[in-house]
Amino acid sequence: METAPFDTARVWQQALAELQLQMRREDFQTWFHDAQLASIDGGTCLINAENPFTVEWLGSKCKGPVTRALAGVLGNPVEVRFAVRPSDVGDLERPALELAPSTTGPRERRRASAASHMPASARPAVSPRFTFANFVVGPGNRLAQAGAAAVAEGGPLAPNPLFIYGGVGLGKTHLLHAIGHRAVQDGKEVAYVTSEAFTNEFIDAVGRNRMDAFRARFRKVDVLLVDDIQFLAGKEQTQEEFFHTFNDLIESGGHIVLSCDRAPRSLSTLAQRLQSRFSWGLVADIQPPDLESRIAILRTKLAARNVIDVPDNVVQLLAERATANVRELEGALNRVLAQADLLRVPVDLALAQAALEPTMPAGGRRAADTDAVIKAVCQVSGVARRALEGKGRDKRSAAARQVAMYLLREHSDLSLADIGNLLGGRDHTTVLHGHAKITAALPNDPALRQTLDAVRELLG
Ligand code: ADP
Ligand code: MG
Repeated sequence: METAPFDTARVWQQALAELQLQMRREDFQTWFHDAQLASIDGGTCLINAENPFTVEWLGSKCKGPVTRALAGVLGNPVEVRFAVRPSDVGDLERPALELAPSTTGPRERRRASAASHMPASARPAVSPRFTFANFVVGPGNRLAQAGAAAVAEGGPLAPNPLFIYGGVGLGKTHLLHAIGHRAVQDGKEVAYVTSEAFTNEFIDAVGRNRMDAFRARFRKVDVLLVDDIQFLAGKEQTQEEFFHTFNDLIESGGHIVLSCDRAPRSLSTLAQRLQSRFSWGLVADIQPPDLESRIAILRTKLAARNVIDVPDNVVQLLAERATANVRELEGALNRVLAQADLLRVPVDLALAQAALEPTMPAGGRRAADTDAVIKAVCQVSGVARRALEGKGRDKRSAAARQVAMYLLREHSDLSLADIGNLLGGRDHTTVLHGHAKITAALPNDPALRQTLDAVRELLG
């Protein structure tokens, strides 16, 4: 017998509370944020997640803990199954693609296309600088990296398409190249293209009446990597062509990876049908790296350049100052190294401080960020700043305030006490509680996740 929906929700809440204690926070958020207990039927619990990749991951890595947690809550032994959440969007179209057998595997495809003598331009322009080995994985990019690695390995469970989105300088292009690099090593046919290049080649092919060559180039590869697809917005004809390329390639067993600066649902001008197709595979966002990841990234970059004599306190300073994205972090590192080179002195803290001062005064950027976070939370939640920073305890202000606490704790180096001071002179335990509450709510609250995404989008 199936229990009433409110029961499953409560059971799942309790199971999640248990699971959260057993897992690392970022793993828990990555894999459980959209998982739900769909039904309890006899002794079988059905867990739904948004995409096949997450379902596979949960099934292979989390079955034991989930089974134990649910059995604990229900007081009975249970069997757990994971499945993709049925969605009403695109259901009519979905089976056609999902059930279409890959009549040709990559190897056969390659042989077939090798015979057609790919032109030199079809060879992938993947950069050996951007590999998985020098990509630092942290809480902000774990899901995107896992999806990318799965595509690179190319098994039948690789998410297809993989849609990676996030702000500028957060490693989207790096991951696309890393996939390309690995796939080429495995002897696969790969095409990497920015959506601008795709558009230009398309227009050129139309103009010169060479659509066949154009199609052959993109529809025969094993892995197609399209970077920055936001540039397709508003280009109707190119979108149409891209749409066909996309379908052809997926139906014949090819893999597609797309990057974008925003979530699929924000691609407002991109044709609806293209959008719904993005959601079939895995949609993974990349968030700015935390302090620990920034330090690891700096160390990786230094090692890649064989620079060994940069002291820890300089790395720490750079990681604390350059918080927005990895490109900024690399820029700061370059300035410091260039300065040392120019002056022919070793890198030390004083030199680093001097090199960074003109662009990144200490504290300045942090204050600006804090202010921007609070402003953005007010804008998205519709709560007045006075209310957010005031003493009021009404539900809406309190909820918005907790979102602000969460974001300030996640994205700035402010202490709990500082955050409390900014938000109406609250003490650090209140901030801790607010942060914990949002963290706990996130897994089961898509609206909350959307709010956080909207705030982050405003922050750029
Ligand atoms: P995007 O395409 O998202 O704008 P890029 O992939 O061009 O960003 O990344 C910008 C720079 O930051 C590149 O030099 C890239 O190697 C580096 N980078 C980004 N994320 C990471 C990471 N997690 N580990 C190592 N380097 C990174
Ligand atoms: Mg890029």
